[in-house]
Amino acid sequence: MGTDQHVSTAEPQQSSSDEPETALETARRQLARARSNLEIDDAIHERLRYPRAVHEVTVPLERDDGSVDVFTGYRAQHDSVRGPYKGGLRYHPEVTRDECVGLAMWMTWKCAVMDIPFGGAKGGVVVDPKSLSADEKERLTRRFMQEIRGVIGPTKDIPAPDMGTDPQTMAWLMDAYSMQEGETIPGVVTGKPPAIGGSKGRERAPGRSVAIVTRKTCEYFDYPLSETTVAVQGFGSVGANAARLLDEWGADVVAVSDVNGGIYDPDGLEVGAIPSHDEEPEAVTRYAEETDVSRLSNDELLELDVDVLVPAAVGNVLTEDNAAAVDADLVVEGANGPTTFAADAILEEREIPVVPDILANAGGVTVSYFEWLQDINRRRWSLERVHEELDSEMVTAWNAVREEVEQRDVTWRDGAYVVALSRIAEAHDIRGLWP
Ligand code: GLU
Repeated sequence: MGTDQHVSTAEPQQSSSDEPETALETARRQLARARSNLEIDDAIHERLRYPRAVHEVTVPLERDDGSVDVFTGYRAQHDSVRGPYKGGLRYHPEVTRDECVGLAMWMTWKCAVMDIPFGGAKGGVVVDPKSLSADEKERLTRRFMQEIRGVIGPTKDIPAPDMGTDPQTMAWLMDAYSMQEGETIPGVVTGKPPAIGGSKGRERAPGRSVAIVTRKTCEYFDYPLSETTVAVQGFGSVGANAARLLDEWGADVVAVSDVNGGIYDPDGLEVGAIPSHDEEPEAVTRYAEETDVSRLSNDELLELDVDVLVPAAVGNVLTEDNAAAVDADLVVEGANGPTTFAADAILEEREIPVVPDILANAGGVTVSYFEWLQDINRRRWSLERVHEELDSEMVTAWNAVREEVEQRDVTWRDGAYVVALSRIAEAHDIRGLWP
């Protein structure tokens, strides 16, 4: 791979100092830092700084009133040295090319940490999903698949849900792809409803893995779960499922939040009584109005004096502005990229371990892999089997990271990058650069 000048158009736009870093900036800074912990060949490091391809498409949509709007969609494919590209599709007004590339890089590392034979991709449409009717969302989704179908496929690139998309979105993508191919191809996307080849347990898997990783890490640092307090930012699929499981396993979930703000009870909330965002949008706020539980803002939640903080909403919430005020003993990342590079350095300095997204929320892609195996083999797994295998994969990956943390005396993020990058670099080295 050449020098920066040869690929200058692929450079991300630098954000100015008062703007949050982009996912791509954070991902590249993390990669550069990880490289210093590992003897990675310069050429491989250089290759990994760039996506293999970024596909940009326009998606025309006929609105319910007959007018037409055109949206921009992306699919960034970062690296496929260990297997087909894999990663979610998000529908969000702030989706950008660089965000997709940064998130695709994290998918490459995530699959490698878990030792899953997939590479990394991410995509999305720049749209506020709340502004679409169900019919509009279906038409947009089918047309988006049509626009990217050339680069998607069950052994090429396999999308999955992410922010603003769900199992129904995956069903439309699978149907649109299959109709054009003339045969039913369930393995082209994961996170589908079980009736059409989705895996049992997939929807709750990211939250489940966050809970498993929190449990392992609490054990490791001698925090018995029954005496551990947890604050969870975000009550979507990741946050709500993590909170419910941790509550079930004995922890005190003392604070949770949605976009409008959070609720707090030092004796522990009844998280099972609050619907998740997918079950009933913004239910945390409604629950607060109906009960007399104390309220707090999302910013206050991040600074609560708790044992474990789980940021499970959006990226860039722990920044250089608030990292010094974090009062948790341990951070477990539920969202992708919740901690900026600068915040990471502050938390390291303050000796607050941050268990990274690429390990903690990797249950989503792990059960996606189980789903893909089930689709290819035309054989269903029971929920018990999914849970057992997920638990075992998460504990194996957590142990691999823990070993690096201990042996190299590095942060948990660095440990996870060492595990991931050594596998990816070895694969690149063996396959070689062609021609
Ligand atoms: N969007 C999820 C993630 O960020 C899942 C990706 C997948 O299952 O492919 O990990």
